[in-house]
Amino acid sequence: MILRVAVAVVAVCCVVIPNAVEAQSVNPAQAELERGAQLGRGTQLERGTQIARDTQTAGAKSSVFGYRDFSQEAGIEQKFLAVPSAKLAGEELKTLTAEPHMAATPEDKKTADYVAQKFKAAGLETEIVPYKVLLNQPKVVKVEAFDAAGKQLMSGPTRERVQGDPFDDNPRVVMPFNGSSGSGDVTGEVVYANYGRLEDFDELEKQHIDLHGKIVIVRYGANFRGVKVYIAEKRGAAGVLIYSDPQDDGFFKGDPYPMGPWRPESGVQRGSVQYLFKYPGDPETPGVASTADLPDSARVNPEGNQPHIISIPLSYEDAAPILKAMKGPSVPQGWQGSLPFRYHLGPGGVKVHLASQQDYQRRTIWDVVGKIKGTEDPDNWVVVGNHRDAWVYGAVDPNSGTAALLEAVHGVGALIHEGWKPKRTIIFGSWDAEEEGLIGSTEWVEQHADQLKNAVAYFNTDVAVSGPDFGASAVPSLKNFMREVTKAVPSPMGDTVYQEWRANRHGSNEHRASNAPPQPGDEVHVSDLGSGSDFTPFLQHVGVPSTDVGSGGPYGVYHSVFDNYAWFTLNADPHFVYLQQMARVLGVETLRMADTDVLPYDYEAYAHEVKAYIESAKRKAEDAKLTGLDFGPALAADAKFVAAAEHGHKLQANATGDVARLNSTLRATETALVSQAGLPNRPWYKHTIYAPGEYTGYAAVVIPGVNEAIEAKDARTAAAQLGVLTECLNRAAQTLESAH
Ligand SMILES: [Zn+2]
Repeated sequence: MILRVAVAVVAVCCVVIPNAVEAQSVNPAQAELERGAQLGRGTQLERGTQIARDTQTAGAKSSVFGYRDFSQEAGIEQKFLAVPSAKLAGEELKTLTAEPHMAATPEDKKTADYVAQKFKAAGLETEIVPYKVLLNQPKVVKVEAFDAAGKQLMSGPTRERVQGDPFDDNPRVVMPFNGSSGSGDVTGEVVYANYGRLEDFDELEKQHIDLHGKIVIVRYGANFRGVKVYIAEKRGAAGVLIYSDPQDDGFFKGDPYPMGPWRPESGVQRGSVQYLFKYPGDPETPGVASTADLPDSARVNPEGNQPHIISIPLSYEDAAPILKAMKGPSVPQGWQGSLPFRYHLGPGGVKVHLASQQDYQRRTIWDVVGKIKGTEDPDNWVVVGNHRDAWVYGAVDPNSGTAALLEAVHGVGALIHEGWKPKRTIIFGSWDAEEEGLIGSTEWVEQHADQLKNAVAYFNTDVAVSGPDFGASAVPSLKNFMREVTKAVPSPMGDTVYQEWRANRHGSNEHRASNAPPQPGDEVHVSDLGSGSDFTPFLQHVGVPSTDVGSGGPYGVYHSVFDNYAWFTLNADPHFVYLQQMARVLGVETLRMADTDVLPYDYEAYAHEVKAYIESAKRKAEDAKLTGLDFGPALAADAKFVAAAEHGHKLQANATGDVARLNSTLRATETALVSQAGLPNRPWYKHTIYAPGEYTGYAAVVIPGVNEAIEAKDARTAAAQLGVLTECLNRAAQTLESAH
């Protein structure tokens, strides 16, 4: 990755951090080109610029899948693309991140009012939707460590601070804590469990290290932090410390802030440890919306997705004295981090005292929802969303996405003011309390579950900009749609987002210039949707085809006080041109889906991907010597899905006359992949193809019911889940076959 700081900062001894990088005297795109040139993206750019212009005009071509004649829409798209402003996006980001704005705080409400005002100005039918949800806020968070002689080694968490940062001493900065942590006061010996993955805890078991009554210390990375606590609790631990090892997002990766983008020694990653792989949202109302008027009787015991033990996040400044004093076996090599001493597993050498008082209350949060009613298919919603709440200032996470969303709304607003109306209803959602467990989006989805059965797409962005490298995730039926959208959006580098995306894939320029269709296997990769952001309730609870987009770069300050406007303008996007780019990507996704004649789902890609998933599960079962599992029926059902998808594609490509029935059949095919019974032990997750793994939390586990049963060596459940999958694939095939 590129070290950007060299460009921006000259003083070495005391770093001067300008708290308002207003480089607006220069043309942002020109400045970015120059910066791009400094970053060695030399000569191709001129050619790229030409291509972008060509591509922009290319958008005018009539051949966009789903459109009978794209020319009119091309005009609308070009009008839209001209509106999102880098300057305004920068100002919106500055306003949104002026104060810490954690969910349910007065500052959070201020950002909701700000977003609502912007939505209204664009001509959206706007409402602020309150939900009453169970949330903890920290009262006491304390960690003390003592050596064998009882000498105190450290006391924390220590306040985050670096020289010259204009934001880190604000009294409204919340102390480092974990959302959904338990409360209590425990003291115990310490055991190091590396990343806290299942295999790490199994390694400790293999070494006969018992965790009962112990404090487990793990490092961030590799899986969702809630999974680390989940397994530690299952194995009897009394508490968990989660720290950021410099090997993973600190000086081992590059210059730490303020010299560079990586995590400084006092930097702490806050974050939820909710067991969202069980179910996200308000822990007291799984599957039910926590509307303000929900009677208390409708609430359940929250322990379904909440840890019972204490969890506290630490910087490596605070973790180092603990790790250094630990005795016991030396760690396996892969467990060694980058602190300047050898790590040991424990127990022994140090005792840690944890005190945690978490103030759990049903607090009000605010989603902001803006709507433009569709003229032809008002019940077919296109939903676009980003969360607004942050742990502290949230410059990258999530407000780079909020600024992009606001500029997309700005562009759509300009079309509305010119009298344009979409065919399908467009809904912009600014979700609250995502950080605490995808809460604002989940409550809204649970409230509108019936209507969302007709929603044709959900477009998400969260950490929209931390650098120049575009990436996307999507259900397979929208992966090509995503690629096509990026071919119509100019990148700050002068070519298209698609060409930059491809160039980055290959890490070379040669692909930047070529518009030639990629060779098989040479296409840009669109990832699968796991979890960790607001697409989860849309796709994995009600089955809305979804995408998630972002533009990445070196970003070590996630969930710390340093994810602020100063860091952002130094490291991520000084001229806000990537915010502008992401606004354009979101906007083109939205317009194309809202006005398309035929829904551009690609079920052939879907059916082929599922075939690969089943074959790989079959191999895994064989490797695990799990006999008696018959994959034949599932493969046969998928083969029918492939054939039906080919039939569907022909109809989509040559659609004439009234396509309403074809479109509802196409949309119903995704719903066919949803099983109302849900996954074993976690029925809230109803999609049979995608879910976050019970032991990953973020990364997608495909055909999760089957794969997780195989991993658990549970042949009976695996067989049952193969049956459920076969049923869904047959239903998807029958649905598509019925299309005409
Ligand atoms: Zn986020």
